[in-house]
Amino acid sequence: APGLYLVATPIGNLRDITLRALDVLAGCDVLLAEDTRVSGKLLAAYAISKRLQRYDEHVADRETPRILERLEAGERIALVSDAGTPMVSDPGLRLAQAAIAAGLPVFPIPGASAALAALTLAGLPTDRFLFAGFPPTKTAARRTFFEELANVRATLIFYEGASRVADSLADMAAVFGPRPGAVARELTKLYETCVRGPLDELAADPRFEAPKGEIVILVGPGEDEIASAADAETALREAMTRLP
Ligand code: SAM
Repeated sequence: APGLYLVATPIGNLRDITLRALDVLAGCDVLLAEDTRVSGKLLAAYAISKRLQRYDEHVADRETPRILERLEAGERIALVSDAGTPMVSDPGLRLAQAAIAAGLPVFPIPGASAALAALTLAGLPTDRFLFAGFPPTKTAARRTFFEELANVRATLIFYEGASRVADSLADMAAVFGPRPGAVARELTKLYETCVRGPLDELAADPRFEAPKGEIVILVGPGEDEIASAADAETALREAMTRLP
């Protein structure tokens, strides 16, 4: 069917792609890729030859109207990012929003995403989680960013560049205290690891002083000791209804 297909691709292991994603990649009229060389390798691995067109933030303004015209003309347009699910800390949102606003069909082709792969591996609560993306790179902004998340009772999931993992872990330990955490590295790749422990231990772990590879950091929800005033009031009211 014509429309915009948002296609998840592998985050490391090239076999982590769905049969439907391969069908869509092989059958689309145009394949929009964050980096045409990266996606070219994926296509080559599956012997798919397809015209690739660059689509990232730098060309989004210029290309979005043209892509909408092609969608309106009934083309099947697929969008991929370098790895994982498009639009999750990756380009594509503006195009998807434009297609939705224009009433054009949009289809998700679900698959790998480092956030959910890390969550399943971390052993932290999975009933509520908050994906927070990349923390700011400057210390003061990063601290504020963590402080704003400190009262969220959910497992927090962060992406982080290898060179900033040590700084981020130190700030997390300072802001979140000794909550449980996990550092998931090189998921689905040869050197996949996951180190679990209290944040202060992770921050002091020499393996994370200058780590290599791709990394997801997770922070558990912590104890309920800091019940908010609203919660206390609710509990009090409830207790009063039970009084004789
Ligand atoms: N769209 C992608 C997704 O759905 O996972 C994320 C793209 S974002 C630009 C890249 C970040 O994702 C990395 O810095 C790292 O935090 C995380 N990531 C991607 N692949 C990973 C992997 N194989 N192992 C661990 N983290 C990974």
